[in-house]
Amino acid sequence: MMEQRKGRRLILFPLPLQGHLNPMLDLANILHSKGFSLSLSSTPTSTLPTFQTTLTSLSSLSKMAYRQPRPPQTMSFSLISLLNIKCVEPFKECLSRLVSDDVSEDPVSCLITDAIFHFTQAVAESLKLPRIVLRTVSSSSFVVFSAFPLLREKGYLPIQVDNMVSATKASSGLMWNTFEDLEQSSLASLIQQFSIPMFLIGPFHKHNLVIPSPSSGLLAEDQTSLSWLKTQPPKSVVYMSFGHIVVISEQEFLEIAWGLAKSEQPFLWVVRPGLVHGVEWLEPLPRGFLESLSGRGRIVKWAPQQEVLPHKAVGAFWSHNGWNSTLESICEGVPMICMPCFGDRKVNARFVSQVWKVGLQLENGKLE
Ligand code: UDP
Repeated sequence: MMEQRKGRRLILFPLPLQGHLNPMLDLANILHSKGFSLSLSSTPTSTLPTFQTTLTSLSSLSKMAYRQPRPPQTMSFSLISLLNIKCVEPFKECLSRLVSDDVSEDPVSCLITDAIFHFTQAVAESLKLPRIVLRTVSSSSFVVFSAFPLLREKGYLPIQVDNMVSATKASSGLMWNTFEDLEQSSLASLIQQFSIPMFLIGPFHKHNLVIPSPSSGLLAEDQTSLSWLKTQPPKSVVYMSFGHIVVISEQEFLEIAWGLAKSEQPFLWVVRPGLVHGVEWLEPLPRGFLESLSGRGRIVKWAPQQEVLPHKAVGAFWSHNGWNSTLESICEGVPMICMPCFGDRKVNARFVSQVWKVGLQLENGKLE
């Protein structure tokens, strides 16, 4: 049995991918507003500017960066495995320092890490520190992940991808950026499988955050998106964004462009530089594409999505169904056109279209 620690100081260790980092920073905001003091342990990555902005804004936070391999913007299973091996020693060293720096009135009471950093469970145990896991995806998709051990046992999965599940089961609790009314049945199934406390404290971005959610550490939000929306009729605009990491082919990009043009609806389209494979930005678009639409279409590199979705001009969200986008859309009551590309997003899209029935999934060239 782990000794009960009484401090109000927590150490947070996020995965340095924007879609994981943002919910962790929102969580930091929430915990800070409840009187906890926080230390963030980070990696020297491109996402660090987002950290620094948040850290300088939250007075009692302190930061500790340490060296480890520089992760790119997307993560494959093999890279995740590698990070979980290579980070062990530097993280252990960093955590020991933070724990031994304990001031007696404010000892570290707990480590909170992204579920994907499953190696942190053993490190926390070795320092007798309780670990709470933050899972940044939907609980519905985690039900699928939790079946991985069984699938591997039956020989359907050739690679070892189930450490995340076993390390989560061994942790002291699981935090979710979701709420019970939305994912009741998935949560019930997880509560049966995991005999640890579950904390349903989402949607994070709807808490009264001291600092607004950081949307990106790299791209400036184009505020003209909002002034343009003001000029559009209520519920008329199709907002389209595929988040931070999805990459599509040139052919898909052009099909989307013609789909938007021929819909005859106004649209606000986020084309992140790098979204289209092998292309810098809008080069594949035919010359004069936007001009031919007489102001009906607007393309930006990055939008203030959390302000776009509640805008009265927005009528639909064409989305890749990352969990943050899905939750933000549900919170604002914006129906979705789902076009998931991989992983948990496919589960989210199924739930949006088949269970919650707040959107349609684009599959085989049809909306279903
Ligand atoms: N986002 C944004 N502006 C954009 C596109 C996305 O602020 O133009 C934010 C969005 O509000 C969400 C996050 O980026 O919070 C995307 O996270 P999600 O989990 O949906 O997808 P990921 O980027 O991880 O694929």
